[in-house]
Amino acid sequence: MNAFRSLEDRRSFTAAKPVRPKAIVIGSGFGGLAAAIRLSCRGYDVEIFEKLEQAGGRASVHRQDGFTFDAGPTIITAPFLLEELWTLCGRHFSEDVDLRPMDPFYRIRFDDGTHFDYSGDQAAMCDQIAKFDVADIEGYKRLMDVAELCRKLGFEEMGAIAFDRFSDLLSALPSFARMKAWRSIHDLVAQHIRHPKLRVVMSFHPLLIGGNPFSVTSAYALIHSLERNWGVHSAMGGTGAIVQGLVNLLHERQVPIHLNAAVKKIRVTQGKAQGIELDGGEFVPADIVVSNADSAWTYRYLVDEQHRSHWTNRRIDKGRYSMGLFVWYFGTRKMYSDVPHHMMVLGPRYEGLLTDIFKRHKLSQDFSLYLHRPTATDPSLAPPGCDTFYALSPVPHLDSGTDWAQQAESYRQSIARVLEASVLPGLTDSLVTSKVATPQDFHDRLWSYKGAGFGLEPILLQSAWFRPHNRSEDIEGLYMVGASTHPGAGVPGVLMSAKALETVVPHASTLV
Ligand SMILES: Cc1cc2nc3c(=O)[nH]c(=O)nc-3n(C[C@H](O)[C@H](O)[C@H](O)COP(=O)(O)OP(=O)(O)OC[C@H]3O[C@@H](n4cnc5c(N)ncnc54)[C@H](O)[C@@H]3O)c2cc1C
Repeated sequence: MNAFRSLEDRRSFTAAKPVRPKAIVIGSGFGGLAAAIRLSCRGYDVEIFEKLEQAGGRASVHRQDGFTFDAGPTIITAPFLLEELWTLCGRHFSEDVDLRPMDPFYRIRFDDGTHFDYSGDQAAMCDQIAKFDVADIEGYKRLMDVAELCRKLGFEEMGAIAFDRFSDLLSALPSFARMKAWRSIHDLVAQHIRHPKLRVVMSFHPLLIGGNPFSVTSAYALIHSLERNWGVHSAMGGTGAIVQGLVNLLHERQVPIHLNAAVKKIRVTQGKAQGIELDGGEFVPADIVVSNADSAWTYRYLVDEQHRSHWTNRRIDKGRYSMGLFVWYFGTRKMYSDVPHHMMVLGPRYEGLLTDIFKRHKLSQDFSLYLHRPTATDPSLAPPGCDTFYALSPVPHLDSGTDWAQQAESYRQSIARVLEASVLPGLTDSLVTSKVATPQDFHDRLWSYKGAGFGLEPILLQSAWFRPHNRSEDIEGLYMVGASTHPGAGVPGVLMSAKALETVVPHASTLV
């Protein structure tokens, strides 16, 4: 990752720049980086403060024993949202980042060894459906029609609306009604698809953004449509290559990213954000402050409660948060060439497991995994002849009371056993490097409330107007961007949140 200016360089750097309204962005996840680009293009003098040692947040990268691991997002959809950022900077995305389309998008492997190759090709999808129940083909086509509608209404019409005023919600109600957004995605799928395995195939997608298919709004059927229309991609060099591309754009725009710079407080006077206080005590004044940190954490710990009438501690505590994630990153000394880039390795239970995770907050013995093998597309991410993997297991967030320091190794071993017995024979003997991340790490490292993997759970009553607004309800001059604000988690979601942010931040020229 490009080195950026240290805090020590700040004063001389800023002194040399012309005076423009100052925007501070707290955090450098995809949402923070996109917001910084957009604000810089709107005339602000932007600085990013990031508590970690590198940019990217959940999309950071770690390298170990010659293996390169993307920590988080790997499935890139709606690449036009990235292209937009490059265009804003007068550049071409494809000149900086080499995205490769996946075909099929991913394999879904059931516990009995059968599998479904999911793609955007209708004929191929019908062939796959026919393997299970040919009678579901018509239902699939009807479901895709609903998905198209949800994409048009939920993504294109509403995605970049900041839902700042109650009237924004009222205007959106007809669209919510047309999408029948009160239904869960599983209910929607069950209306059209009969075979239990196909119901899983068609309903699991919201898990990729922290939603329980049995309670997330059916509007998330839009993911099917996004994938079908624009494909599923992976970046050569890994998702870290996209983060690096964004960092380079910011570098060219002279937007510094201060690393190892945790923001301890957002200073507020008379209801207005004045700037930030850093861990070391330094105060940095600003005209506007944009938090890309988890919104619950931002309000709970960075803004004194006396300034918050809307996002009170009680309300934050009562919120519903997405599941936690256990991620095992590992490298093997051999290659598993028959394992595709993206694979869901499902366990024996679906609804029961999700109830344990989301409602009972209980760590189960069984699990379902997303297995990532980026070396299927880019062998340079591992030493020659080796494979890079991660296995992601949705688990309850920290309300489960799990002592992860105690449990992590035995949980990892359970995952290794399942993978060894299913898709990675000989795994234990071929392991050469290994590292895990638990919900406790999401809490301690990323400052994610309750260690949730994706921030606030995307249920209907925590979506759109009900989600923390892009323009703070409580503090003038404070804004939010990223997974815990509208529209929600996932790389497309947080890139859209930066677009929504842009609609409520005043143009810098109006502040001088
Ligand atoms: C394992 C995993 C796999 C995923 N897979 C996919 C996928 O395949 N496709 C997809 O689209 N999405 C995926 N997601 C979701 C996606 O990665 C996230 O929703 C998205 O990257 C979140 O971006 P964000 O802008 O909200 O910020 P984050 O990435 O959460 O970054 C926030 C940043 O703020 C910093 N910060 C926090 N507090 C402070 C503070 N006080 N001071 C300074 N800095 C602070 C943090 O260190 C962090 O760098 C995945 C997520 C995970 C965890």
